[in-house]
Amino acid sequence: MSGPGTDPSGETRIAGVIGWPVRHSRSPAIHNAAYRALGLDWRYVAFPVPPGAVPAALAGVRALGIEGLSVTMPHKGAAAAAVDRLSADAAALGAVNSVHRDGELLIGDNTDGGGFVDSLAAEGVDPAGRRCVVLGAGGAARAVIRALALAGAAEVVVINRDARRASIAAALAGPEGRVGDATALAGADLLVNATPVGMGDDAAVAIDPGPLPAHAVVADLVYHPRQTPLLVAAEACGLRTVGGIGMLVHQAARQLEAWTGLAPPIDAMAAAVDG
Ligand code: NAP
Repeated sequence: MSGPGTDPSGETRIAGVIGWPVRHSRSPAIHNAAYRALGLDWRYVAFPVPPGAVPAALAGVRALGIEGLSVTMPHKGAAAAAVDRLSADAAALGAVNSVHRDGELLIGDNTDGGGFVDSLAAEGVDPAGRRCVVLGAGGAARAVIRALALAGAAEVVVINRDARRASIAAALAGPEGRVGDATALAGADLLVNATPVGMGDDAAVAIDPGPLPAHAVVADLVYHPRQTPLLVAAEACGLRTVGGIGMLVHQAARQLEAWTGLAPPIDAMAAAVDG
């Protein structure tokens, strides 16, 4: 008899994550906790895949019948180029963080932006009709910018050091997107930090949240530490905050749902983040 918590058998199904490096990824803990909670005889493992080897890794997914593959840094662009078909999100972003099989085809998707909006919803925050400010224009920022516009944001202002990247990112929000600066905070309902500022031992505050209106919500994609310097500063101003763990859990939850067809056990997945 095989199942969650027992040794794998001939029936065990495999999913995993490719990245470089990947050994510190929290994804195996999050996905395996979900399989246990659902009673699925699945296992999720980390595959260290060096740069240049993504096409070979995806050929392996096909050949080995791997059920689902998460894709993390630095492979999201290479995976987008190597799959057979892209979802609308993955095509717009040029980045894939989730691969599943549809018969012989490998389908690339991007669950980062949807996962972020899901994490807001879990905290009772709806971006529809809201004026949003996003700090950063990298991969995570672009996913969030597009998702906020799709969720009905009234405006998505992008603040970034590199002006060219800021314009490219703002365009992902369509007519609602524009490049701006710190003066946008005074009229904002939602501020999102999508830069690495405040990560780990970095005590820097990504931006002074002081000018935000009293009703504004401040979200940080950085999840280590959970209480980032920006979130500490926002709470000191009396503002509501949303941490980055929720996005980490919900982007994984969307992957799990696509691969298994089952409703993701969010609480079990969230509890597994800290291991
Ligand atoms: P990325 O592609 O390298 O982009 C980083 C962005 O941050 C760039 O726009 C860069 O600006 C800006 N930036 C970097 N250092 C900065 C600084 N000192 N001051 C101001 N701006 C700075 O990174 P990413 O993949 O988008 O990830 C960004 C952050 O989001 C990381 O901390 C990552 O851990 C987090 N993240 C969290 C989740 C989650 O599930 N919670 C998911 C994905 C990412 P320039 O363009 O000017 O260089």
